Amino acid sequence: MIGIVKEFQLIESFFTGRAQSRKDVVMGIGDDCAIVQLNANKSIAISCDTLVENVHFFPDMPAKDLGYKSLAVNLSDLASMGAEPAWMTLALTLPEVDETWLAEFSEGLFEIAEYYGVALIGGDTTRGPRAITITINGQLPKDVGLTRCGAKNGDWIYVTGSLGDSALGLDILRDKAAVDGEDRAYLVNRHYRPTPRVLAGQSLRTIASSAIDISDGIMSDIQHVIKSSQMGAVINVDRLPLSEQLVRNTTADMALSYALTGGEDYELLFTVPEAQKGALEMALAETGVRFTQIGQICTGGQLTLLNENKPFEPVNLGFEHFN
Ligand code: ADP
Ligand code: MG
Repeated sequence: MIGIVKEFQLIESFFTGRAQSRKDVVMGIGDDCAIVQLNANKSIAISCDTLVENVHFFPDMPAKDLGYKSLAVNLSDLASMGAEPAWMTLALTLPEVDETWLAEFSEGLFEIAEYYGVALIGGDTTRGPRAITITINGQLPKDVGLTRCGAKNGDWIYVTGSLGDSALGLDILRDKAAVDGEDRAYLVNRHYRPTPRVLAGQSLRTIASSAIDISDGIMSDIQHVIKSSQMGAVINVDRLPLSEQLVRNTTADMALSYALTGGEDYELLFTVPEAQKGALEMALAETGVRFTQIGQICTGGQLTLLNENKPFEPVNLGFEHFN
């Protein structure tokens, strides 16, 4: 299994800095999307994500939800750059031709594609263990994309939505947590159908100093921001936004661990300078997306977790991630 550290090391060792350099590549390897400049006014943001059976999803995942999630996770990378979704290609690897499965998969895929105005413009279909790769392309006005590297000392740290629901949803599906009824449906749905914060990302373009989408858990993803920005961060874990469904179906310690390290939230983590706080309130109020201030950028390169102003050590849930 490729652990997260190893994945970054192998990209660094074998791919980063080796590609032909071009002046129109504004952002290459290392952010949620690459950005290439098209002309004097426009850039394109590009990202690619793969979901592999038994690694990223179980064989019994409903095909309709899988179609939905395959595109949702790609849209989340566009959202974190503030890009407007436009085109996708789809590479499908399938063990057999199962028309019922394909009908359901494509229904879920096109449901979310239509909602966000994404056209499927090509792809590839091959036989093999089930895997789905989508490459998404979005548009950006020149020079306004959000990246991981712009956070400054004193900027406030925010997240959209609530954290940890998806990870508890996954534990429910694995029979590691017992939750029934409407709460089970809500939590499993948060795992199967994450909401990419596409409009919120676009409205943050001129307001946030940095942004990333939370795919591996906030504790891991904030590290990308502080490393790229050469900063440190303080996170107040007592401020983390937790859904009532998460809170009432696990212990307080576990809820925080799901929120910090669970992953697959696909919420946005972003930083905002003090002077832009008013603009932020207005911009996100228009999108209707909930957002919560959870900490502050500082100098020193370290991540500090505080719970009611005292140092905090999360319970290790032992999640292992691929990307
Ligand atoms: P995300 O979780 O946002 O999808 P990843 O963690 O998968 O991003 O990837 C980190 C960065 O490394 C991204 O910029 C991605 O495009 C790049 N990357 C990942 N795998 C490869 C690869 N095999 N070749 C080149 N770049 C890669
Ligand atoms: Mg990402």
